[in-house]
Amino acid sequence: MAGLRLASVRKKFGATDVIRNVDLDIADGEFVVFVGPSGCGKSTLLRMIAGLEDITGGDLFIDGRRCNDIEPRARGIAMVFQSYALYPHLTVYENMSFGLTLNRTPKSEIDTRVREAARILKLEHLLDRKPSQLSGGQRQRVAIGRAIIRKPAVFLFDEPLSNLDAALRMDMRMEIAKLHKELGATMIYVTHDQVEAMTLADKIVVLEGGVVQQIGAPIELYKKPANKFVAGFIGSPK
Ligand code: ADP
Ligand code: MG
Repeated sequence: MAGLRLASVRKKFGATDVIRNVDLDIADGEFVVFVGPSGCGKSTLLRMIAGLEDITGGDLFIDGRRCNDIEPRARGIAMVFQSYALYPHLTVYENMSFGLTLNRTPKSEIDTRVREAARILKLEHLLDRKPSQLSGGQRQRVAIGRAIIRKPAVFLFDEPLSNLDAALRMDMRMEIAKLHKELGATMIYVTHDQVEAMTLADKIVVLEGGVVQQIGAPIELYKKPANKFVAGFIGSPK
């Protein structure tokens, strides 16, 4: 497991400032949600933490180690995308084990981990299927399973439920909360959905235009929004 620290983290695309001086401490095992409207920089911030995007300025520490220039695979992080990004020609089992196979993890160890993840995610009976034979919710479970079997210290989720219908989204939300309890890993979760943010988070980071508007527990944001934007976004009474 690992905590994270962002110190004055900035991102420019060309001349455009997309993330401005983000300072953020994330404790080991914390569930942190980045929330804000489309285009506010949530994915960019997450992708910098994952190492999929260069950091223009500032410092990123993971478990006390400065990681600005550490390659993604060495950061101890796994990311789950909205689009699932499964291989259509591989089975559920193969989709989950693929990354570890490349890492030369022993077959028996891979098998143990895949079956454990399948148990947690209720995919045991689907291991031989191809993604086209699965529902949207099942596909997203496979994508989460693929992250779990890498045993990352930090999980990153980028709007993982946005492609699912409302009822399924609620189910999956509960499952992700359960997963966090069971694994105890640090999780950073991006969404534009206030309800998801309020129900999942230990700590919420509200972003607008690449600027942090407020950081706090859901109840703090609700009771003491820092400004009108936060109040409006969170749905506070004032
Ligand atoms: P969010 O995930 O909150 O919807 P993004 O992080 O995807 O927002 O994008 C933040 C801003 O950065 C947007 O204005 C977007 O157009 C811009 N942006 C994102 N990726 C790139 C890129 N590769 N090149 C140029 N601009 C980008
Ligand atoms: Mg995004």
